[in-house]
Amino acid sequence: MRNTEEKDTGWGIMKRRPSSRIELLAPAGDLHRCRTAIRFGADAVYIGGQSYSLRSRASNFTNEDIAEACAFAKTYGARIHVTLNIIPHDEDFEGLIGYLQFLQEAGVTAVICASAAIMRLAKEYAPKLEVHCSTQMSITNAEAAAFLKEALDIDRVVLARECTMDDVRKIAENCPVQTEAFIHGGMCVNYSGRCTLSNRMTLRDANRGGCAQSCRWAYHLYDGNSEISSDPLFTMGSKDLCAAEYTADLIRAGVSSLKIEGRMKSEFYVASIVSAYRHLIDDLYANDCKLSEEAFRRHRQEIMRAENRETFAGFYPHRAGAESLIFHQTSNIDVNHDFLGVVRGYDPEAHTMTVECRNAFDRNEKLEVLAAGEENRVFTAEWIRNEEGELIERSSHPMAMVVLPAPFAVSEEDIIRRAYDH
Ligand code: SF4
Repeated sequence: MRNTEEKDTGWGIMKRRPSSRIELLAPAGDLHRCRTAIRFGADAVYIGGQSYSLRSRASNFTNEDIAEACAFAKTYGARIHVTLNIIPHDEDFEGLIGYLQFLQEAGVTAVICASAAIMRLAKEYAPKLEVHCSTQMSITNAEAAAFLKEALDIDRVVLARECTMDDVRKIAENCPVQTEAFIHGGMCVNYSGRCTLSNRMTLRDANRGGCAQSCRWAYHLYDGNSEISSDPLFTMGSKDLCAAEYTADLIRAGVSSLKIEGRMKSEFYVASIVSAYRHLIDDLYANDCKLSEEAFRRHRQEIMRAENRETFAGFYPHRAGAESLIFHQTSNIDVNHDFLGVVRGYDPEAHTMTVECRNAFDRNEKLEVLAAGEENRVFTAEWIRNEEGELIERSSHPMAMVVLPAPFAVSEEDIIRRAYDH
């Protein structure tokens, strides 16, 4: 069970984790996903405002959203980090100081920057904000962190995804500031922040939030004039990172924060992946960082239920070569149909729940409820009623509201997914 102190708040149950533990840092593309990440166990969430942030196609937060995210996070003892990780041109500085001051006032904990100029301005004009060096700065050694600490008084470095576990240990041991390491999510096939593929091919600047993910496109590959193979077409895109098996090593190394990548990802992904890593981390702390093979297998299975791309352990075991890094077109790229709906209402007297559907499911199918801070619970949808109250055999319309039996209490925004036999 999770080791938390609990207190009822206007937002629900506040769960405050011991601050000495490693932070679980989750992504959120909008306010809704931010709340989901916090409810499902993130200690901190990183979000992007409407300017100065990469991922310009993520929904991104208005200033009002940021203030609301901070207020919500506070009730759970969680923190909000805001990305300001563009590589700025002169015109990008307009309004920046005012924005930094707004973030400080709103209760943001940290800004994630990739530009020394933005870091310096943050320290000067919004000194209560922590400054975290983005992975875009490709920090792969403790010397670089020491230099940035001395020159700009930074608080944390987000390590480059290209670090091996040995690199991470050495950096964490000798680093004068906190370290943050990626644990799960997309990888850049080129060093993050050092890629201009998208700029060249689509005129969309990857370092100002416009990456078109050109590395993931399918290419005809030629050796001179002869095409090598067009079945399947070649892609440079990387497999996704899943470093669950390195979680204990990263905790032991003294890393401060484990980061999940994916501000463009869905609510289902955020809930599932955050919940799965929350349980894994809490289980590791409860067992002196040692889990049996069976216990770890179950955690990994939970994590992988949110994934629909091939994964690898990144550079942690060793520097990855093309074989381990490159995503193959033929591998599992199916859309995940596990996400069946979101609970929108619960009637404790009638023992029913109202569910907003996402994917189809059948009467008598076994369903699983994913609830914040709880073990997953399975039940059978012995009947399904549509909005007119009629009994139906199959719920097949996305966004339709249906009523199901609720053999136990559920809460609004709990997630319904297909149940698997473990
Ligand atoms: S094109 Fe691919 S490798 Fe380059 S920045 Fe975009 S995601 Fe990264």
